[in-house]
Amino acid sequence: MGNISAGLRKQGAAAATDIDSTWDVVVIGGGITGAAVFCEAVRMGLKTLLLEQKDFAWGTSSRSSKMVHGGLRYLKQGKFMLTLASVRERQRLLSELPGLVDPLGFLMPVYSDHGPSRLAMGVGLSLYSLMAMEKQHKGYGPKQMAAMVPGLRTKKLSGGFYFKDAQVDDARLVMRLIHEGADSGGVALNYTRVDDIGRDRRGRVAAVTAIDTDTGKTAELYAPVVVNATGAWADKLHPPPARGIHVRPLRGSHLIFPGSLFPLDRVVSFIHPADGRPVFIFPWEGTAVLGTTDVDHEPDLNMEPVITGGEADYLMEGLDFILPGLGISREACIASIAGVRPVLGKGKVPASKESREHMVWEQKGLVTVTGGKLTTFRLLARDALAKARRYIPHGRPPLDSEPVFRVPDRMSEKTEESDLGVKRRLLGRYGALAGRVVEESPRELVSTVGDTSTLWAELPFAARYEQVKHLSDLMLRRVRIGLLLPGGGEDILDKVESICAPFLSWDSDRWSDEKKRYTEEWHRAYAPPD
Ligand SMILES: Cc1cc2nc3c(=O)[nH]c(=O)nc-3n(C[C@H](O)[C@H](O)[C@H](O)COP(=O)(O)OP(=O)(O)OC[C@H]3O[C@@H](n4cnc5c(N)ncnc54)[C@H](O)[C@@H]3O)c2cc1C
Repeated sequence: MGNISAGLRKQGAAAATDIDSTWDVVVIGGGITGAAVFCEAVRMGLKTLLLEQKDFAWGTSSRSSKMVHGGLRYLKQGKFMLTLASVRERQRLLSELPGLVDPLGFLMPVYSDHGPSRLAMGVGLSLYSLMAMEKQHKGYGPKQMAAMVPGLRTKKLSGGFYFKDAQVDDARLVMRLIHEGADSGGVALNYTRVDDIGRDRRGRVAAVTAIDTDTGKTAELYAPVVVNATGAWADKLHPPPARGIHVRPLRGSHLIFPGSLFPLDRVVSFIHPADGRPVFIFPWEGTAVLGTTDVDHEPDLNMEPVITGGEADYLMEGLDFILPGLGISREACIASIAGVRPVLGKGKVPASKESREHMVWEQKGLVTVTGGKLTTFRLLARDALAKARRYIPHGRPPLDSEPVFRVPDRMSEKTEESDLGVKRRLLGRYGALAGRVVEESPRELVSTVGDTSTLWAELPFAARYEQVKHLSDLMLRRVRIGLLLPGGGEDILDKVESICAPFLSWDSDRWSDEKKRYTEEWHRAYAPPD
């Protein structure tokens, strides 16, 4: 069974004021990019500290469409190398992280009156398959397509395609990277914001000023290099290198429906009739998720992004157009989620035309990495650390062929006895710590929460070992039941309290406050839109 590292064991109590003050690298931002830089830096043998101002994955990295994909849109834009890199990362993650990154089939109907032609789609998908070095797509005629997708619009349907990509639980992927880094000696703190980056007389980075956002206490932490992995916040700490380029926050929103309304275990991907953008509906943890939009995001980045009525109308218009026979109504929606893409651009083209490539820039020890995708986190991290290396000469990057994620030698007996799907899920999500989820729980908690595939046992595990500071950390990011259950799981909050209370030092007043705060937050940012 895996060891709980000092980095994680101490997490519940640790704060910036009671850790070492000197580090090789400080990483700012606890989304996928920061978590990947953290994990890779620890693998280089560097003394690494990660600081996140809110919760791990609170930003975009818990709000994505959860696809681990090559990105067919890049192919359309002629960006072959980028697609190739993404496809390779996808294949790598599928083999390293079964149970967290799993194959997901796509069905894409093709119409003669709009969207790409059968020929164009066929050529694109052949290239896509070639990149994966395996045929991963198949073409179908209109009758077959209609039979495969219940409720599909058949007018002008000229056929369609099946192809393979993959799906991940984004927030758990972030946690998996943080576990890996912390298990090898890194320290990661949530609710710790970096307010300032200090420099020496020559202008080189020397320290950061961090503030514990719960207590207000500050600490000066020293490092010769700081990696700014703050996504959409990146240019607040470090202006982009070229004039005119800035971070353009673009909001993408999703609507979540009960899985019973969408009788498919595949994605239906289609072209929205209003603007020709790709949109999809996909199965996720027993629900069906419809997304996404792509609009400029004006509100304060430190507030939870929220779907607007206009975005919901747009998504429902697309769904009604493509799957009229399913009759999914807006009233059936159980939750929503919106995220902000950290896109770098000049802001002169429509949102969906902005490049999604990542960018790294450096100035005297401050390395900034932003843009990019969830799928290519390892490449972003390696690029950022390559720029950081001149300030930390003793670190050596691991070989490209070395796996990032460790697999436990053996699981506990109780875990071995579990259902195969459960074992796979736990191994993917918790790696070397998977055994503990089951081992440290009473048998009755090794059962699922409602119709979701989340085990009750995952909640006390997270409360105990995963630096849960607020109930929303637990319900929305350590496990995702706040998005999967109607009302954000309001009905089960008393049970959550009873099984997690032994591991959180909250008295009953604190539990009442946390439940109130979580419920308000859910209604404000995750409820179905009006
Ligand atoms: C709607 C949508 C769908 C997407 N779908 C996909 C997909 O299917 N597949 C895919 O590969 N990619 C997808 N993406 C892209 C992907 O989600 C993002 O590129 C990725 O999550 C960005 O991660 P990040 O770590 O750079 O940023 P974030 O996850 O936002 O992390 C940055 C963190 O920095 C913290 N921070 C900011 N300032 C400070 C400070 N001063 N001190 C400390 N911490 C700070 C923030 O709180 C935040 O948590 C999608 C994006 C969106 C919006």
